[in-house]
Order: sequence, then C-alpha cells, then structure tokens
Amino acid sequence: MASNALESTLHQLDKVSDRLGLDDGLRAVLRSCKREFTTSFPVRRDDGRIQVFTGYRVQHSLARGPAKGGIRYHPQVDLDEVKALAMLMTWKCAVVNIPYGGAKGGVACDPKTLSHAELERLTRRFATEISILIGPDRDIPAPDMGTDEQVMAWIMDTYSMHQGYSVPGVVTGKPVNIGGTAGRREATGRGCLVVAQEAAHHKGLSLQGASVVVQGFGNVGAVAARLMAEAGCRVIAVSDSQGGVFSPHGLDLVALSKHKREAGTMIGFSGGDAITNSQLLELPCDILIPAAIEEQITVRNARHVRARIIVEGANGPTQAEADPILKDKGVLVVPDILANAGGVMVSYFEWVQDTQSLFWEEAEVNRRMEMAMTRAFDEVFEMGEREKMDLRSAAYMLGVRRVADAIATRGIYP
Ligand code: GLU
Repeated sequence: MASNALESTLHQLDKVSDRLGLDDGLRAVLRSCKREFTTSFPVRRDDGRIQVFTGYRVQHSLARGPAKGGIRYHPQVDLDEVKALAMLMTWKCAVVNIPYGGAKGGVACDPKTLSHAELERLTRRFATEISILIGPDRDIPAPDMGTDEQVMAWIMDTYSMHQGYSVPGVVTGKPVNIGGTAGRREATGRGCLVVAQEAAHHKGLSLQGASVVVQGFGNVGAVAARLMAEAGCRVIAVSDSQGGVFSPHGLDLVALSKHKREAGTMIGFSGGDAITNSQLLELPCDILIPAAIEEQITVRNARHVRARIIVEGANGPTQAEADPILKDKGVLVVPDILANAGGVMVSYFEWVQDTQSLFWEEAEVNRRMEMAMTRAFDEVFEMGEREKMDLRSAAYMLGVRRVADAIATRGIYP
C-alpha cells in the first residue's frame, strides 16, 4: 500500500516533468529525497519490558526553505510511505507558495495501544533521535495521523532541554500556551471548506443544501464536516476506521460527536443507518471529502463514485490510476496538495509568530489563510484551464515548476 503511494507520487511527477520539459538532471534531483533517516530505538513499556521501535524522518527538498512536514504514528509507517509523504509536502508548500521544502516523519507503532506515559517516552526518545536533523531553521515537524498537540509539546520540550533554552519554533501545531497559534487545530478542515466553496462555485453549485460525505472523523474530517454543516451543507454520511453512519436528511453532528466520544466508535449511533467505508465512498452526493488514509479511491471503486466534487482532505487518498476514471466521469477533484494545505499554511503562520514572539488573533489567522488558499485555488484552476488538465496535474505543474525554478536559480553547488 505504502509503496504504491510513492509510485503514484513519482508517476505524477514524471508526467509533469514531461509537460514542463525538465532536463534529466533536474528530474533526477526532484525524484530523489535529499535526506532519509531511519532509526531503531528502545522504549521501556509500563510493565518494564523493552521494545524496539523504528522511526523515520525524510527531508525531500530544502530548495525553497527549511523542510516542513508532520510526524505520523501508525502501524503501517515505512520508509517508502514517509518518502512519498515528504515529496507531497514539497509540492504542497510550493503550490500554496510558502517558503518551505518538504519533509515527513513517522514511527511504526499503534498509538492506541500505548499508555500516555509510554507515548511520552516514545516521543521524547524519537525527538532525541531526530534532533540531529530538526530545528526552526532546518526542519520543522507538525502533527499528522496519530499525533497531536501533546506530542508536539513533548518534542518542543525535549529539543529545548537539549538546547538549554525554549525553542517554540522547532515544531508547529503546539498548544497555544507554549507558542502555538490560534486556529491551527481547525486549519486543515477550514482550508477544505475554502476550496470546497471555490470548487462548488466553478461547478455552479451552491453550498446551501449541498450534500456532503466525509470519510474519516479525525482532526481533518470531523472539523471539515462541522464547518461544511455550518456553511449550510447537508452532511449525509461520515465514517471512522471502523465504519460510518448515513442519513439522507443530514446527520446531527453534535449528537454524533458526543456518541463517538462516549462509545469510542460511531457504531450504535441512533441518528442514522450503519454504512461501511466502501459503501460511503459510492454514495450519491455533491461533495465527497476523503479525510482518512491513502489509496481509498482506486481503479476498482472509482467508476462507482457518484460525487460531483472530491476535496482530498487526506494525503494521497486517490490512486493515480483512478484519476482518469474520475476525470471521464466529470468529477472535479481538488487534489490533496491544494485541498489540505490549510494545515501547513497555518503552521507557517505559527512559525512566523514564534519567530517574532508576536501573536495574532484567530480572526487574523483565518483571514490570512482563507486569502492565501483562495489565491492558490485560483492559480491552480487557471493553470488547469490554460493547459487543459485536471486540477491535480495543474497543482503539480505549479508546485514542481516553483521548486525547479528555485533549484535552477540557486544553481548546483560547487
Ligand atoms: N501533517 C500535515 C500535512 O500533511 C501538516 C504538516 C505541517 O503543518 O507541517 O500537511
């Protein structure tokens, strides 16, 4: 699964490199990751046993600035997946034009099976292992699947202990009381709303009453679902990793969140019918937001997708081979590197605020993010019209060209 994500990303890059007429040397630079770091490290479990975990930090490119990207805790994390995700971060930061390169990290573990104390020990040890790579001017981690504000606080603290002074700018997505920014927690979901609005506008669709389906109910999916509902949409189905619920009249998301908080699952929620994740992806709807994991829309199910617009809240939710099928069906796909870039956009704002020790109001953060995301959407859309290509190819064109230009301008050392 994970190695397919790398293949998909490279395939897209090759296609765009052809269109841009990049020479072989530049292509080889863009195809490779600058630094790939693998570490095996011991963690003491609560029962006294020692368990060895494997973690990764990959910096794909530093051409446009310090490396930026999240850290993922998930059992399926491996080097190829982290490389693919690092590469996606490079294009993502370039598409929305923030001055970063791309990176990603991960530890192969199931955070749900670790106690709070074990999670802290694992995080502090991993932070120490990668401390030779990270830093506010070098490489700035953030949350991703399986990690959160608390994990960022531990990384920030561990790094700061080693330096001997507080370095809030070493991570983003931190709690607000230690240098985090207002609006970061909701930023990815809010960015999804902004691009959904733009995409709907181009499809001649009003968000008022538009039917929305969301796969994934984590930091991205749950926030996107709530904000879409607040914008007047009818959220008819949502799911988590165990399955979902469906109600054609629209779900009561407040009641559903409460049920999930209490029961730990959506299963058993009385305000809708139970539905599997694969059924959910094939529901007729105006807007589908896959906000869970990679490779959900595949060659097998793409022809059954009945959404008019897909907003990719997750990274890599659509297989490369599924894209032409969706295109033929007339589905407008807003690609991950644009659709979920609100998160890293607000991470950038957090880092800027940390650097200046001057903090903004939430309304200011949201206003700047909405402005930047709308501009990025317009640029990608115009590129798509001009080059007669789908939005994913257009976003790659824009992102890859900016990175290639930076490399060409800087020149090859020595
Ligand atoms: N993990 C998020 C992403 O994939 C955020 C990265 C960041 O804020 O650096 O875009």
